[in-house]
Amino acid sequence: MSHAATPVLVIHGGAGVIKREMNPVREKAVRAALTQALQNGYAQLKAGKPALDAVTAAITVLEDDPNFNAGKGAVFTHDGKNELDAAIMDGYTLKAGAIAGVHRVKNPILLARAVMDKSQHVMLVGEGAEAFAKDAGVELVDPSYFRTDERWQQLQKALKEDAARKPHADVETAKHFGTVGAVALDTQGHLAAGTSTGGMTDKRWGRVGDSPIIGAGTYANSGCAVSGTGWGEYYIRTVAAHEICMRVTQMRVPLKRAAAEVINQEIPSMGGNGGAIALDGNGNFAMPFNTDGMYRGWIGADGVPHVAIFGDEDDGTGDPLPASESSSGQ
Ligand code: ASP
Repeated sequence: MSHAATPVLVIHGGAGVIKREMNPVREKAVRAALTQALQNGYAQLKAGKPALDAVTAAITVLEDDPNFNAGKGAVFTHDGKNELDAAIMDGYTLKAGAIAGVHRVKNPILLARAVMDKSQHVMLVGEGAEAFAKDAGVELVDPSYFRTDERWQQLQKALKEDAARKPHADVETAKHFGTVGAVALDTQGHLAAGTSTGGMTDKRWGRVGDSPIIGAGTYANSGCAVSGTGWGEYYIRTVAAHEICMRVTQMRVPLKRAAAEVINQEIPSMGGNGGAIALDGNGNFAMPFNTDGMYRGWIGADGVPHVAIFGDEDDGTGDPLPASESSSGQ
């Protein structure tokens, strides 16, 4: 789509076990961070910058905030490390950049963007990705930068449960994800999507989830942009983000329905869970999830940031959002 459009930005900060009893201090901090991310991203769109810039601006705010499982505050691997993944895609050019398994990149989404803009590749992993970061001038930090006590405790709990041989799916810490993502529509009518994550607590053996895999956790084309959050193995197997977009752009399924079919039907029917944000070229958006809650927000024609956390919360679109349903904007 290539016409003057009213810009829209939709973000998420992860789906999972998020109950109304959550710590009020944390709730306030999460709402403030989501609002800031919306404001920073929307400022780019209002200035006529591309959707890609809005996506990176919003995601860097959430990466820098320790309340989210991306950048600072990322979850720990089984070996006690923070191992970060991210991806970005430009719906207009279909260019994409992704990185996985990095330990020293302060803002993984900026490295994904650099891979897209400055290399001839789409995906770089591990030490090679960090060597490229140096060459591309992307900021590196000591691995201790990412550590928070809360995430460390989550790992200790998961390790104990591992030792008691509980299946990973039953580990409470595995149920609160916290990945961050953004989708944007710019004034040119172009779409972009991005996602950044620390993956899942207690992950092993270089496990990589859906977030940095183009088509699984992140995808954009000329008529649809999606960022997912949830149990990554299922998003990879359903090629979730691409699947939603194909239904929208090829099969002409309305965005809200397409997103709900994949997130609230296909993935749970296989045993997975999570959520997603999706945006089409007309500014319609959906934020389906099948978990208790999803940190989420949007900003559109009224220029006012709207944020929501809980499954039964009115998120500004005027409709309450039962956990099993999606919402859509204007
Ligand atoms: N999808 C991410 C992964 O599997 C986790 C999340 O969304 O929080 O790595």
